[in-house]
Amino acid sequence: MSGQHAAPEAAPLRAPEPDGAATGVWSTGVRRGDDGALSVAGVDVREIARTHGTPAYVVDEADLRGRARAFAEAFDAAFAESAGMAGADVYYAGKAFLSVAVARWVHEEGLRLDTSTGGELAVALRAGVPGEAIGLHGNNKSDDEIRTALAHGVGRIVVDSLAEVERVATLAAEAGTRAPVMVRVTTGVHAGGHDFIATAHEDQKFGLSLASGAARKAVDEILARDSLELVGLHSHIGSQIVDLAGFEVAARAVLGLRAEIAAETGFLAPEVDLGGGYGIRYTAADDVPPAPAQIAATLADAVRRVCAELGTPVPRVSVEPGRSIAGPAGLTLYTVGTVKEVALDDGGTRTYVSVDGGMSDNIRTALYDAAYTATLAGRRPDAGAVTARVVGKHCESGDIVVRDVALPADVRAGDLLAVPATGAYGRSMASNYNMVPRPPVLAATQDGVRVLVRRETVEDLLALDLG
Ligand SMILES: *Cc1c(COP(=O)(O)O)cnc(C)c1O
Repeated sequence: MSGQHAAPEAAPLRAPEPDGAATGVWSTGVRRGDDGALSVAGVDVREIARTHGTPAYVVDEADLRGRARAFAEAFDAAFAESAGMAGADVYYAGKAFLSVAVARWVHEEGLRLDTSTGGELAVALRAGVPGEAIGLHGNNKSDDEIRTALAHGVGRIVVDSLAEVERVATLAAEAGTRAPVMVRVTTGVHAGGHDFIATAHEDQKFGLSLASGAARKAVDEILARDSLELVGLHSHIGSQIVDLAGFEVAARAVLGLRAEIAAETGFLAPEVDLGGGYGIRYTAADDVPPAPAQIAATLADAVRRVCAELGTPVPRVSVEPGRSIAGPAGLTLYTVGTVKEVALDDGGTRTYVSVDGGMSDNIRTALYDAAYTATLAGRRPDAGAVTARVVGKHCESGDIVVRDVALPADVRAGDLLAVPATGAYGRSMASNYNMVPRPPVLAATQDGVRVLVRRETVEDLLALDLG
């Protein structure tokens, strides 16, 4: 895309839809004022920029909490014993974004917490999340990570290889405890966006394969170890999934394995985890993803149906949403620097709008060719729209934040830009490329702005360098 466009409003901020918690690109607390400036939870972004600088991640606390609560309530309802089910637990996947405050928020809203490293585990523990409400994932857990998890009595360690079964068993025996473990089963179902593919064999690093018998072998080895307690089977099929059909296929595979184990060993795994990966809307062009209630109802229906076919009692079910809780709740605030018109081969032009961050605070565009949108956040535009590309300040041409977006032709140095849906996998994947300090994470609430994670400084970076 290139050239001039006649659209009157640049990347229009859609007023959050009535049920914006489920459908919005912007968090539910985002508004555009009469003067054109955005506010989050009533706080003017110009005020946020003046006080805290840019770039900055701004989290709408009420929105994030609302999404967490919606998942907890939806799964409680769909998997209630009164509905013939055996209950459900929602684990927030901390890798999407984790800080002490966010760990507390999601726990207060009724969620448990998934961690996948010692660092994430440390944040969860500092937040006061009880061990039994924490899960530990990872395809290459260190002995230290496993020991720490055991010492704090985590509710589950999701084992990812046969070697790990052995290691967790040994470490648990050494600690004089019994480790609750789940087996991560790779079902051959991979999903993302609208499609899922199902193959028998898997060429990727996670989990224990169903088709090759590795998952079953792990189960048998766990059942033979006194220091291990098998609490369930686990499946995670991908990310940014809007079509729920892949979950049903994976659920069928895992429930089938559970029934087979029960028939052959007499052990009925009490729990099945169906993973996370629910998609969100990054731009208005993206389809509206299913809401938590629809996800919960679809999964409950699938589990009920498959278990009836198999003649096994329904398990307790858990899920692990990350992006769908943190993503839409956050936006990134940037200040525009250089604006450059670049001539294109087709005779058109493209407006390159450089901001004061880039691939160090949002790697997803460069890494996954992810689509984002942006809007002028601090004033009303005085010109029609041009097709712009929002780029960062890093020494790489792939340093793109938003590939194509309509911005007002008068966009200029000093303007504020806001990029929505950056609450997940933004700060958590941020780097110090080019020795750029990572932005702060600010919580916007009715009571004002609170710093959750402070801005890094060049001094922080220099402090690591021992010369
Ligand atoms: C990444 C991941 C999740 C969360 O994925 P989202 O797309 O953020 O919902 C859940 N479970 C596992 C095992 C993961 O690796």
